[in-house]
Amino acid sequence: MPTNVRNSIEKINLDYLLIQNLELGSHSSIQCGGNAQWAAYPTNFEELRILITYAKNNDLPLSILGGATNTLISDKGVEGLVVLTNHLARRHVQGEMFCVRSGCPLDKAISQAIEDGLEGLEMLGGIPGTIGGAIYGNSGANGVQIGDLLYYVDYMTLDGKLHRLQAHPDEFSYRHSPFTDRDDLIIYEAGFRLKPTTQTSEVRKRKDTVKKHRKQKGLYDYPSLGSIFKNPEGKKAAALIEACSLKGHTIGGASISPRHANIIINKDGKATSEEVRALIEYSKTTVQNEMHITLQEEIHYLGSW
Ligand SMILES: Cc1cc2nc3c(=O)[nH]c(=O)nc-3n(C[C@H](O)[C@H](O)[C@H](O)COP(=O)(O)OP(=O)(O)OC[C@H]3O[C@@H](n4cnc5c(N)ncnc54)[C@H](O)[C@@H]3O)c2cc1C
Repeated sequence: MPTNVRNSIEKINLDYLLIQNLELGSHSSIQCGGNAQWAAYPTNFEELRILITYAKNNDLPLSILGGATNTLISDKGVEGLVVLTNHLARRHVQGEMFCVRSGCPLDKAISQAIEDGLEGLEMLGGIPGTIGGAIYGNSGANGVQIGDLLYYVDYMTLDGKLHRLQAHPDEFSYRHSPFTDRDDLIIYEAGFRLKPTTQTSEVRKRKDTVKKHRKQKGLYDYPSLGSIFKNPEGKKAAALIEACSLKGHTIGGASISPRHANIIINKDGKATSEEVRALIEYSKTTVQNEMHITLQEEIHYLGSW
């Protein structure tokens, strides 16, 4: 059972921070998945540090979720402590540097940077999820990847210490960052080196235009996780799946989007994660058998399967 913990600044009440059995399905953009054994929404550095220490001292596996827009959560739930970063969302500007905490929604951060007279991030407008999730998977769109614009990333390791990575674009590649597949750290804050501008209404218009295009493509029509698979070298995953006549294919409540074959939708909100995963496996096997190409997931799995 959680107890109060004394730290240098104040007494942080873990009983107040920890939530038992938090339902995660409604948190996820595909609207399915089970509960977190324990969950917490830290609001600052100290709370995050105390939570990590608590998990470590009590042998609780630690998982991190931002917007859960790229993560399929098991119906069986997630053992241990799930830290949800959504309340770590502050930002500040230092000259041309836009600094923002990891739980801030990416789209909101882009709007704030424009308000602050800084351009550079706007082509990523409309990508759901948080700054932390976008850095973890080097999210991108319209020829821009988040790693192209990063100056630094502050992250906390499981001993509660904060570190700074001076980001270099060479360390980021297609849907891959120095943080991908690492479960021993939490991205806390990022600094973006952007360009000062006085043309804020033009920049805002560019952002609105890319968002409108995304909407017209039907990306937000139904609950989904966006693209399920990475594009194999020189190929499009959607085209491969479509060539196997899988558009519209359904398992239980999960269907391959009739508009975009690399997206699985939970059209009526009744799909289970098990069904979504079964459809992922089915698509993979079919493309492997018919095209002799191995598709690799872009999405992440969380919990026990
Ligand atoms: C409709 C739709 C459209 C999309 N379009 C695009 C697109 O155009 N381009 C694109 O790249 N993606 C796209 N995505 C996928 C998704 O939006 C991005 O990958 C997004 O950046 C994920 O952020 P998140 O906060 O939701 O991450 P989550 O799903 O919460 O987490 C993803 C991974 O990052 C880890 N993580 C999250 N935050 C942290 C942190 N602070 N510290 C350490 N690890 C962390 C998690 O543990 C998990 O492994 C789309 C998704 C949807 C639903």
